[in-house]
Amino acid sequence: MATANLSKEDIKLFYKLWLSLNHGVNCKHNIVPQFKKPEYGKNMYEKQIFAVSEKLWERPEWIDEFAYENADLTDEERNILTSWRKHFVKDRFLLERHLKKYSVLMSTANNEGVLYGVIGITDPLEILLRAYGVPCFIETVLLPFKERIIHYGFVIPYPVVLSSGIKKTFREECNRIKAVRGIIERLESGPDMRADDPEKKICINMATLKSRLHEVNAIESGVKIFETGNASFHRSEGFFGFSAKDRTGERNGSIRFTKDGRDVKDFFCGCTASRDGCLCKHVVAGILAIQGGIPESRIDLGKSVTISMDESRKRITETPFSSHELPMSFLATIAETAACELMDDMLEEEQTSYGKSLSLEMTVKRNVAEDLFATAVLSSAIGFEMDFNISIADRRGEVCKGVHTRMIVDRKPK
Ligand SMILES: [Zn+2]
Repeated sequence: MATANLSKEDIKLFYKLWLSLNHGVNCKHNIVPQFKKPEYGKNMYEKQIFAVSEKLWERPEWIDEFAYENADLTDEERNILTSWRKHFVKDRFLLERHLKKYSVLMSTANNEGVLYGVIGITDPLEILLRAYGVPCFIETVLLPFKERIIHYGFVIPYPVVLSSGIKKTFREECNRIKAVRGIIERLESGPDMRADDPEKKICINMATLKSRLHEVNAIESGVKIFETGNASFHRSEGFFGFSAKDRTGERNGSIRFTKDGRDVKDFFCGCTASRDGCLCKHVVAGILAIQGGIPESRIDLGKSVTISMDESRKRITETPFSSHELPMSFLATIAETAACELMDDMLEEEQTSYGKSLSLEMTVKRNVAEDLFATAVLSSAIGFEMDFNISIADRRGEVCKGVHTRMIVDRKPK
């Protein structure tokens, strides 16, 4: 049975790392003058440690510095330290309830709902905070430690008196989050894309938003919510949480992005509109808050290009087809050429595209001796996948129609 605090051995290990980290950081960056080396169980110098750690959360790269500049650390110790840098969560939390194996803390940043199962260091939080009832607000920093979540040694109750109505609302909110996402018990186990990985840029453009199944006016309303400053987000383990508010109320939800950051992988919103993968205004506002607006993009949904094939007659007579009908291979070439022509303006310098699929259907039988026009219309652009409606016509009307899909790729594979 897991207990809600660390074992004796781990308490020693935690304090060894935590105290030496803060002392080491202070030696290097001079935050507190004359800060003697603290020692677990003897001189902890809590005030000094607290002052240093406040700076540390603003400059988490100092943790890495310390971890790599200290030759006496074991690999395990070094890994624990770097995991703190990567995964610490500094927030004001609603302590919702105490369970046997941990206490349940709800992150309150931006009103977004994530539940953490947190254990104490020397004592369970239930003992540490016995003077306070639940729920109550606390400020602390969560850290990963040996596959569990601990706090950093300071848990500061935040004095707010909660009415029974508010308490009930919090309990319902926690139950809802628990039902949807459960309680996070480990900070380092993130699925798929790391939400805190700065390398992975979230960059969803307007065309992708419009191409996704969305509620009527969801995009316009979502943009409005974002522009009036009523959308906020919170990075969490493997996903982003968001909050979006307008006249109709406030909603919270979560979003995960595809690995390339160009599309949403899945999302959840407290409103009913987002069911069945339908984008609601709250999710749209959340996406905009996360990426700081709509990225500029030349990808323009509905854009169309028509190319005339003056050369068509000549080209066709050069093809090995003896039939009097238009060869499909030729129609395919015009169709693809029209789509490429359209994409030309939309691609960035370092990008190119390749054809993924093409399907064409002759609508009328025609003699070859006609000038042809191919029109491509961008009908959907989700991430890097572009769909085109194709229509090929001669002067008398459409002879062929179809759909074509192209993928945008980097010219030079990374
Ligand atoms: Zn919604």
